[in-house]
Amino acid sequence: MSFHDDPRYEAVGSAQATPETLAGLETWRDLAPQQQPTYQDPAELEAVLQELRAVPPLVFAGEADVLRSRIAEVAAGRAFMLAGGDCAETFADATADKIRRRVQTVLQMAAVLTYAGSVPVVKMGRMAGQFAKPRSSDTETRDGVTLPSYRGDIINNHEFTPEARRHDPGRLLQAYHTSASTLNLLRAFTQGGFADLRRVHEWNRGFLGSNPNYHRYEQIAREIDRALKFMDACGADFEALGTVEFFAAHEALLLEYERALTRIDSRTGNPYAVSGHYLWIGERTRDLDGAHVDFLSKVHNPIGVKLGPSATKDDVLRLVDKLDPERTPGRLSFITRMGAGQIREKLPALLAEVGHEVPQVAWVCDPMHGNTITSGNGFKTRRFEDVVEEVAGFFDAHAEAGTVPGGLHIELTGDDVTEVLGGGAQIDEEGLRRRYETLVDPRLNHDQSLEMAFQVAELLTR
Ligand code: PEP
Ligand code: MN
Repeated sequence: MSFHDDPRYEAVGSAQATPETLAGLETWRDLAPQQQPTYQDPAELEAVLQELRAVPPLVFAGEADVLRSRIAEVAAGRAFMLAGGDCAETFADATADKIRRRVQTVLQMAAVLTYAGSVPVVKMGRMAGQFAKPRSSDTETRDGVTLPSYRGDIINNHEFTPEARRHDPGRLLQAYHTSASTLNLLRAFTQGGFADLRRVHEWNRGFLGSNPNYHRYEQIAREIDRALKFMDACGADFEALGTVEFFAAHEALLLEYERALTRIDSRTGNPYAVSGHYLWIGERTRDLDGAHVDFLSKVHNPIGVKLGPSATKDDVLRLVDKLDPERTPGRLSFITRMGAGQIREKLPALLAEVGHEVPQVAWVCDPMHGNTITSGNGFKTRRFEDVVEEVAGFFDAHAEAGTVPGGLHIELTGDDVTEVLGGGAQIDEEGLRRRYETLVDPRLNHDQSLEMAFQVAELLTR
């Protein structure tokens, strides 16, 4: 793609939003949005929002359009979407090393899928904006003390003190700036040659050679190397390998933040959320008549909706009518998270009923959120085997319905944490104590992430 053909660099126009379009961006306010923070001082909030309304966009409308066209390929079965990253990013962990290891992990998984699964991969991070968490309870009690729940770094701090748990509007700005520095690094990695497929070996560096999947990856990397050398000898043009597309995704939970970071695209006059390329609506906030569905129906980014085991045919069709009324390929993805125990019962029925009516939609598997358990020794965890079983159930359900299994949405980190049970290194309940670092949900570690990629590659080539 040359510079001039790339819609991301199209000349800036002067299109304006209509008054109706602008009014439409405020209607969510009348719909009692769920899972929002409660700020004490409206003036403090307003000052922050005013600043956010004026800051530069983090992502650009043209980039979101490119992603939409990539997801259209996913929906059509010609590409596979891979989204991975923390359940909840934290400000403290937005360091170069941690971000790099997460990106490396996603790139390694993508290399495995592309090579072993023979499919182009649309790469996305739950990154550079994944700071707000829905919680099942507003409060948390420890040793007789009750405080507001931790709702993600964009709202409060995890530390269990009244001051830390206060909902602090200043954190909205910190989330913006942390997203900006994270994106800056992502752009450097993916545009500056680090993500070049010719460096497929280097992505494994710095990880533990003792992990079972490390060597398996090395083997694939050697094969990719050989194939690239062969192509090189044939005179192939490798310029396209130097840069890689990597998109930023997060849950659009905090509507004041998303609204303040919505901009009018000067090419078209359409609103885009510029906090990230891809936004999704969580399982808890996908109420059809709710504020989140209303707000996201007004922005033109590609969006996702999580679907748990209670989702019905009617839910799906009405969500499509509302969020994708023009049936635009790649605009909408459904991210199913049924749980290993339910997916084989629920998903085939749902797909049989609606799958063929919405061919423009991409279906993606989140094998994490339906499989959360508490270990005997009190850790919030998941079993790797359940995660893999849900992915297998997802592929089987789509095979049965004749629809497209389009992608994977997972919680992972590049670090060698012990948060999910099982995997090649056989983490057991005692092992969870070793390095359990997540503040919200358990993540696959680097080794488990690679193992997942190998398993999915097999499912893709069955
Ligand atoms: C999440 O993705 O971290 C999450 C909270 O998911 P869900 O809305 O599917 O529960
Ligand atoms: Mn989570």
